[in-house]
Amino acid sequence: MDKSALLVIDYSNDFVADQGALTCGAAGQALDGQIVRRVEEALRQEQFIFVCNDEHQANDCYNPEAALFPPHNLRGSWGAELYGRTGELLRGLIKSGRALYLPKSRYSAFFATPLDAMLRERKVERLTVAGVCTDICVLHTVIDAVYRHYQVAVAEDCCATCMPHGQEWAIAHMRGCLGVEII
Ligand code: ZN
Repeated sequence: MDKSALLVIDYSNDFVADQGALTCGAAGQALDGQIVRRVEEALRQEQFIFVCNDEHQANDCYNPEAALFPPHNLRGSWGAELYGRTGELLRGLIKSGRALYLPKSRYSAFFATPLDAMLRERKVERLTVAGVCTDICVLHTVIDAVYRHYQVAVAEDCCATCMPHGQEWAIAHMRGCLGVEII
């Protein structure tokens, strides 16, 4: 296997579908084909694929997100299911063991998850990050990856956000302040 990994962040119904609790709407739905192509490319290049997805408990007042956002990606709910063609593809890959699914409860996919240990076990040095929201979970995952000395690229055409102006700001911030490659 290549020493690279693709991270797909939060591409779930609640963040992408029209009826999602915290949806990016059309901007998120427009990524579906591009993320599929990016996953297929990762398969061709024998990269590791990690699917990092919010999974929250209902009424979890101890999670700081509870005071900031409506309930979303509740464990076992429709909202937490992966969206669209990307979801179909990833579910198959997860089932066959070709992609690894990691639930998370904070913005960063590194916080309180085995992601860093699993990447190091596999000698992964380079990460490509795709998914939503660009200025929230993608950004915080990228910050944690940079602090852990991974070489990080963000696939701009595979990211979107539900926050006004968040896309441009986050891409500029990751490029200018974190030294991340925007591809
Ligand atoms: Zn969340």
